[in-house]
Amino acid sequence: MVSRLGFGGIPIQRVSEEEAIGVVKRCLEHDITFIDTANAYTTSEERIGKAISGQRNKVILATKSTSRNNEEINSHLHLSFKRLGVDCIDLYQLHNVSDFRTLEELLQPGGPVALLEQVKKEGKIRHIGITSHQIDVAKEAVRSDRFETIMFPFNFITCEAADELLPLAREHDVGFIAMKPLAGGMLANVSIAFKFLLQFPDIVIIPGIERIEEIDEIIALMAGELTMTDSEREEMEQLRLELGTRFCRRCDYCQPCTVGIPISSAMGFRSIVKRLPPERLFTGKFADAMEEAANCTECGECEERCPYHLPIREILAEHVELYRQEKSKFEAQLTVN
Ligand code: SF4
Ligand code: SF4
Repeated sequence: MVSRLGFGGIPIQRVSEEEAIGVVKRCLEHDITFIDTANAYTTSEERIGKAISGQRNKVILATKSTSRNNEEINSHLHLSFKRLGVDCIDLYQLHNVSDFRTLEELLQPGGPVALLEQVKKEGKIRHIGITSHQIDVAKEAVRSDRFETIMFPFNFITCEAADELLPLAREHDVGFIAMKPLAGGMLANVSIAFKFLLQFPDIVIIPGIERIEEIDEIIALMAGELTMTDSEREEMEQLRLELGTRFCRRCDYCQPCTVGIPISSAMGFRSIVKRLPPERLFTGKFADAMEEAANCTECGECEERCPYHLPIREILAEHVELYRQEKSKFEAQLTVN
């Protein structure tokens, strides 16, 4: 059992170590007991480790690996022990499993899930979970009965999980962790976003938090009136209309792109600009995705496959422009420094 409100460890990569540790400590003061991070979130695990030092018994620690290979998962797990400063992880998740072939590979005899089940028997992890952005894969993962938690995007824009995934998770006694409660930073009205999610009594909500004021605001909100006012409901419907047709769920139904663009990564650029440090935005996989997005031929095939009818070509063009602007600003700053 954990607190309804958890802590998402992505954005603390962006701030100084001191600020990051301060935010996590503040969460502990607010009796937040669920802390989620990942091997892939650069400094996040280490900063959380420093913040919880001496208070390990107060938190349920969750981390994850994007690897699909037993040896590498094992090495990620040991790195997590070291960075977090612990000898047992409460919830170990297989990260971002969004296609059936990968799920099958993870579940095969002797595969990564079998490895984690063995590690669990040895007492080094306590529970096994999975995270996904693709609803059909997430449902299949829940049905497999090999995972104790499912982490899936859930907010009033991306609310598909409420229809079948969440009821299925209840049926299989699988804990539901709601990632992206603020739609990856797209929802500025925190009150509406949380009032929507708090209607669901049995989910854990993990906003990514980088500043103490943010966590204080959410805690104050949760202590107040949780029923939406008429005007908030109206605003929610308006935002659904405005953002629902622009918000990428990262489900990858639009693939394959005719020229190999990682569409969902490029579609998420506006959101990750707000959450990641510039060093990560302009090098590595995010930068590669945006450079590739610039090669879009506007063939339109992806749009025919997107179940949400997103104007992918238009959004990619906007994001490529935004990427170029932000990159020039970053480079200019580097020159000044
Ligand atoms: S419109 Fe662009 S992104 Fe979509 S399939 Fe064609 S080339 Fe790929
Ligand atoms: S563009 Fe559409 S199909 Fe592609 S990942 Fe986003 S929501 Fe899914």
